[in-house]
Amino acid sequence: MPEPMLEVAGLRKFFEVKRGFPRATTVTVRALDGISFTVGAGQSFGLVGESGCGKSTAGRAVLRLIEPDEGRVAFKGEDVLAAGKERLRALRRKMQIVFQDPYASLNPRRMIGKALTEPMRVHGVGAPGERVARAELLLAEVGLPKNAMTRYPHEFSGGQRQRIGIARALTLEPELIVADEPVSALDVSIQSQILLLLQGLQERRRLSFIFISHDLGVVRYFCQSMAVMYLGRIVETGPIPAIFKEPLHPYTKMLRDASPVPDPTRKVAMLRIEGEVPSAVNPPAGCHFHTRCPHAMEICRKAYPEWTPLGDGRGVACHLHKV
Ligand code: SF4
Repeated sequence: MPEPMLEVAGLRKFFEVKRGFPRATTVTVRALDGISFTVGAGQSFGLVGESGCGKSTAGRAVLRLIEPDEGRVAFKGEDVLAAGKERLRALRRKMQIVFQDPYASLNPRRMIGKALTEPMRVHGVGAPGERVARAELLLAEVGLPKNAMTRYPHEFSGGQRQRIGIARALTLEPELIVADEPVSALDVSIQSQILLLLQGLQERRRLSFIFISHDLGVVRYFCQSMAVMYLGRIVETGPIPAIFKEPLHPYTKMLRDASPVPDPTRKVAMLRIEGEVPSAVNPPAGCHFHTRCPHAMEICRKAYPEWTPLGDGRGVACHLHKV
């Protein structure tokens, strides 16, 4: 494992939300329930799981776009959660995000040139002319023409807008990018182009990625290691080849078997696994996965399995794999 770019330990985030009609009560959503992982320098780390498993919350909590309740996030050894306003601003230059839907994050009334130069202006990077020149270079790097500078978001296709979102994430020369389902809103043919673009950027710029996806085929293609999340917790982690060769957690095995195609130029299978994901408001007692697990035992309904490190970067939380 290369030296760590990001270390996350015991990250927790619960949300209080109102549920019910006509008389609403406050319930607690256990979005993140103490997750830990490490992203190596220049590596892509996949966070995978079905919708509602907490993976997007994890990405935002790492960047403090959502304030976590507990835990530790260290970027190149520096405690992100302890950073004051100024320090956090400086850290955010180094840690950026690419969203699933770039259109939602682009101001429809702002020209692309402005969208790209504004972060540089806010952070005091370069003189105005230098910012424009730099924005044009970024557009070229993501495969868009210079004249995109004077056009508006609605003038671009979904794939082009994602290229703009990527260019914007690069404006401040980040070292880590959280890519939150960056290709899942795109046509399959466009997905592969964006993945190739991200891969090229990663190699050229030696970027680290947290790559969030529900699609194991895409993560297998793009990442070197990954963690599988289920109802706010990590249930398995390890290097991609080892996990795909021999998944240890029954949920990982189901995900792998539902998404066997590692080639992004082909249509990747969407997850089709048995049963509904239980609610994160009231997760099942014991192992949260026991309601869907074909191997569930008596103990699984009573006790949450301890995290078991297995060496070589692998670990699992399942009563079948205690050492
Ligand atoms: Fe299945 Fe039990 Fe392992 Fe949970 S702990 S995944 S229920 S075998």
